[in-house]
Amino acid sequence: MKRFLRLLLIALVLLAVILLVNTFRFKSKQLTDVQTAPAVPVNDSAINRLAEAIRIRTVSFTDYALTDTTQFDQFVQFLKRSFPLTHAQLKLETINQYGLLYEWKGQNTSLKPALLMGHYDVVPVIQGTQRMWKRPPFAGLIENGAIYGRGTLDDKSAVLGLFEAVEGLLKAGFRPQRTLYLSFGQDEEASGRRGAASIARTLKARKISLEYILDEGGIIKTDGVPGIKKPVALIGITEKGFVSLNLSARSNGGHSSMPPPQTSIGLVASAVSKLEANPFPARLDAGANFMFDYIGPEMPFGQRLVFANRWLFGSLVKKIMSGTNSGNAVLRTTTAPTIFSAGVKDNVLPIDATATVNFRILPGESVQSVIERVKEVIDDERVQVSQFKSLDSNPAPISDPTAPAFEVIHRTIRSVFPAVVVAPYLMVGGTDARYYTDLSPNVYRFTPYPMNDESLKTIHGTNERLMVADYRQMIRFYTTLIRNSQ
Ligand SMILES: [Zn+2]
Repeated sequence: MKRFLRLLLIALVLLAVILLVNTFRFKSKQLTDVQTAPAVPVNDSAINRLAEAIRIRTVSFTDYALTDTTQFDQFVQFLKRSFPLTHAQLKLETINQYGLLYEWKGQNTSLKPALLMGHYDVVPVIQGTQRMWKRPPFAGLIENGAIYGRGTLDDKSAVLGLFEAVEGLLKAGFRPQRTLYLSFGQDEEASGRRGAASIARTLKARKISLEYILDEGGIIKTDGVPGIKKPVALIGITEKGFVSLNLSARSNGGHSSMPPPQTSIGLVASAVSKLEANPFPARLDAGANFMFDYIGPEMPFGQRLVFANRWLFGSLVKKIMSGTNSGNAVLRTTTAPTIFSAGVKDNVLPIDATATVNFRILPGESVQSVIERVKEVIDDERVQVSQFKSLDSNPAPISDPTAPAFEVIHRTIRSVFPAVVVAPYLMVGGTDARYYTDLSPNVYRFTPYPMNDESLKTIHGTNERLMVADYRQMIRFYTTLIRNSQ
């Protein structure tokens, strides 16, 4: 017994040593040899240009027939008028009518080009919510140090910010070594198939291979992420896939006074409930681990020890993350029943019943593997599983956070926002960037403005707005990024 206790003690001491060694070797990945980015003059006319861009109602609808494309024409004219140097010195190609591709030829053609992108369409304002806006969504008002309106965050500030940066650099006589492409889609909010997908296809047909791509995506989360209270700049290195499935069942119908033990509604309901009771497995290797490698070392000692020893505490980390909806979404393919339709009258047995379930697919899995698992879990041939008529996509490949291009973005962030922690992460929503993954292994998703839990709700929501000071920083970020990308 004594011997056993001694062995146990030795094992415990050994374990403690391993845990501590790992914790001390869990070194910060934040770049520290970073020079402060030079100030970039941004005068009020730049702020007014963003406000003017908001006034052009470039709303895209899922049903393209509803989209007022004259607004797109106006927007393109507005760009040409507002950024004369850019339009004189860069080559502009319109692809599939409203997709915009600009080429700024570099002097060193042996360098692979970089591509910075965004989209100039916006989501509609939901009918009935107009009155909840403190400023009208398309008035482009500048008040109390903020620019108000639909698109100030998603994504006209990035589009205009890029134009301001390029125009400013041209004015300063800057000539890039590396060719720079700018691409802007007109339908990101409605699939991106007309804009970004066509532009990407064009570049691919020309066999262009890109050093890196930067699209909208992660933000500077000023209230931190779980485990860390400091502001964190999140750079999306991958994004989840998407598929919706219909689960349907048919029964005989008839009078509800003599029902069978289970109607079609019961069958489908039980299938949905099986899916909810059997979530997809939680995995840390689809992006979460990369994030912890970067934010872990910045945490207080206790948490740092846990994240430095995921070999031991992995299940604990997963358990804690699963506790919140946002944490859970980073960990697994999510299951969301979104539509349920069946029945016409309270005393009539239903014939057909259908539930639609939306899945957001974790990298490493696929549309196909999701369908297979769903059938396996339901395990009832009376319930048919079929694809809902909507666009599906496989998850994006994971871009390497150790690539030089990631470091360029990391360095640029730290030079403009010195106090933030930079971290790669998995995006749970979709972006246009997914169409570009064949053009470069380095596809990143980051928009350089600060946001917190509260302000994030205004994206696609009500009272979307951007602080003028933050917009100035965005222009400084893009200017510095282009300079750093040489
Ligand atoms: Zn967007």
